[in-house]
Amino acid sequence: MIETTKIMDTIKKLSEFAERVKDIDARTAVLDLKEEILSLREENLKLREQLIEKEKFNMKFEESVYWNIKENGEKEGPFCSACWDKDKKAIHLSPGAYSSLICPVCKTIIPTGEKNDFLSSGESSIDWC
Ligand SMILES: [Zn+2]
Repeated sequence: MIETTKIMDTIKKLSEFAERVKDIDARTAVLDLKEEILSLREENLKLREQLIEKEKFNMKFEESVYWNIKENGEKEGPFCSACWDKDKKAIHLSPGAYSSLICPVCKTIIPTGEKNDFLSSGESSIDWC
């Protein structure tokens, strides 16, 4: 792990030095550097969170959606492919209108057609006779 506190200490020293020698360019450069490091730290945190999130899942892409394949082989899902691909967020898809699935977060609609038995397997057996 990067020691950002150490870097920030060094920047503080540089800042104090720039102040002492009254060099406006040096002060501006130090401030820019500080800003850069803060945004790097933020990005680093975000990536770390994404990594943790990703490690919790064993995602498999299948017919426009993701499934989490558990260690025992069990399938969990389906999850939104847009949210997972973009932010590594595992968002459960909800049943939408006209045999489709909808993501509650990004509102992506996935038409499932007739072969969809994602969410209603075994639930409704209609006897037409
Ligand atoms: Zn989504």
